Amino acid sequence: MRAGGASRAPTGRAPDEGGPVTETVLEGTMRAMRMTTPGPVGRGPLELVEAPIPQPGPGEVLIRVHACGVCHTDLHIAEGDLAPHREGVVPGHEIVGQIVAFGDWPGGDRPQYEAADGRPLELGEWVGVPWLWRTCGRCHFCLSGRENLCDDALFTGWDVDGGFAEYHVATAAFVYRLHPPTDDSSRGGDAADPAGRAAATAPLLCAGVIGYRCLRLAGVVDDRPGLPGEDAAASGASLPTAQRTRAGMRRARLRQVSGAIHDLGGSPVGAGPLDMVDGMAVTEQETRGRLGLFGFGAAAHLCVQIAAHRGWEVYVFTRGEEHRRLALELGATWAGASGQRPGAGSDRGETVLGAAVVFAPVGDLAVEALKVVDKGGVVALGGIHSTPIPSFDYQLIYGERVLRSVTNSTRLDAIELLRTAAAIPVRTEVERFPLEKANDALRAVKESRVRGAAVLQIA
Ligand SMILES: [Zn+2]
Ligand SMILES: [Zn+2]
Repeated sequence: MRAGGASRAPTGRAPDEGGPVTETVLEGTMRAMRMTTPGPVGRGPLELVEAPIPQPGPGEVLIRVHACGVCHTDLHIAEGDLAPHREGVVPGHEIVGQIVAFGDWPGGDRPQYEAADGRPLELGEWVGVPWLWRTCGRCHFCLSGRENLCDDALFTGWDVDGGFAEYHVATAAFVYRLHPPTDDSSRGGDAADPAGRAAATAPLLCAGVIGYRCLRLAGVVDDRPGLPGEDAAASGASLPTAQRTRAGMRRARLRQVSGAIHDLGGSPVGAGPLDMVDGMAVTEQETRGRLGLFGFGAAAHLCVQIAAHRGWEVYVFTRGEEHRRLALELGATWAGASGQRPGAGSDRGETVLGAAVVFAPVGDLAVEALKVVDKGGVVALGGIHSTPIPSFDYQLIYGERVLRSVTNSTRLDAIELLRTAAAIPVRTEVERFPLEKANDALRAVKESRVRGAAVLQIA
């Protein structure tokens, strides 16, 4: 393994011929929040441990974690709603950090490891790691642009140790390039607070990416005809560009993905913490429809901004008064409680919605959403876990309404989301916790006490 930055002990191996880099490994231990027995967060299912720094294998990179977001999925893992995949796992899958080592390649001659955008990674580079840690790359899902459905996928912080730790091993091809938070060039944001920038970027890696896929499957970020999301899922199409021809869409997509996020350094990026990623032109559009969001946590607070920017009126259903205020602040047209008709009590009056996304893991809300969605509309369920969906009258789904789940995400979702979020630019609201307070952070997420997203600030 070739290490940079915080390397601790030389291995005694010779440096590459003529190369200035000394071969070292990161030895020693790190602090991590590891799961003991899954159970109610009030009992503290995570414990602080000193664990050996993990070692990257072929095709893998070692990342010094600076910030890691706390997602509802981490809560489901900690509480045992999701069956454990690995005993004593370290949760966390919204990682922002720096590459400090590359895993060795069998035989010695290590090729350049490429990020999700297909371009080589450098030591010291800032990257993000999401929920999708690796897929098989061979199954019919992987080969048809639907790697989110791969049966052999591994997930960060569930199958492999995640980011509630000082170091994380990631698959190079599944990491996303970011700008250094210390970059004080003309990119805006608060260069004096790089830790804050890293923390503000973390929620994009899952709340943002999954939220974006929800918007895609609900038809909000896909302007193709037909069942929203279906074509996009199969072809991987749909970039947030305003003008394009359908014939050129796929070619353009491939160019843009492989063209690297870095290459767009000239695109205007507004001031704000999201200047760790590059944007691309996103043209505001006329009112395109009305979208409902059920639950207003980390994902919804990002989705409302993207949907509103794309010309959708957004109706937010959430219990908390504070969450309703934040929703309106971030661009929602209306905010109320589930069970209310969208628009109730407002000057514009009650209305029906063209689509809805349910983020809260409550099955009843799927039915509530169907009640307020128009004929032909889609209700997308964004959670990895939910309480059972109660039975409902056929009339609620008749009229070609669609009820569908959203499962993981693809690399294209992540690349598009990062670019879109930077271009708008999306504003993340984060509440920071130190690493050892991960149980408290999970509890705050469970009790909906977080304004926006909870993030562990690790470095
Ligand atoms: Zn696969
Ligand atoms: Zn997540």
